[in-house]
Order: sequence, then structure tokens, then C-alpha cells
Amino acid sequence: MADEFHADLEQSEKLLNDVDRVLHALDAGTYGSCEACGEPIDQQRLDADPCATTCVAHPQLSEQPSL
Ligand SMILES: [Zn+2]
Repeated sequence: MADEFHADLEQSEKLLNDVDRVLHALDAGTYGSCEACGEPIDQQRLDADPCATTCVAHPQLSEQPSL
């Protein structure tokens, strides 16, 4: 039960981070461009994941496992 709650919290935190990145990108006018290379992100990718801030060639930075 406690583990589940913790997982929910982590999920919410990740979502908040994603939304924050998107808001910043919109603010800076870079939404839809890859954070890593600056190339336009595929529209299909954005449709599938509106929070995507990197192109297909670059893994979502926030999804990289923290070691
Ligand atoms: Zn890229």
C-alpha cells in the first residue's frame, strides 16, 4: 500500500516535471523542437506524447534512468 502510494507520487512528480518542461518550451518558443539537437520533433511523436521534448533520435531526457 505504502509502496503504491510512493509510486503514485513519483509518477505525479514526473508528470509535473514534464508539464513544467513543456510550459518552459512554450514560453521560450522552442516547443516542438528537440532539446538535444534542436530539430523539429515529429508531429506523430508529439501527438502520441505531447510532453515529448526530444526527437526520435534522442531518448527523452527525463526518461533516462538516474544512476
Ligand atoms: Zn534530437
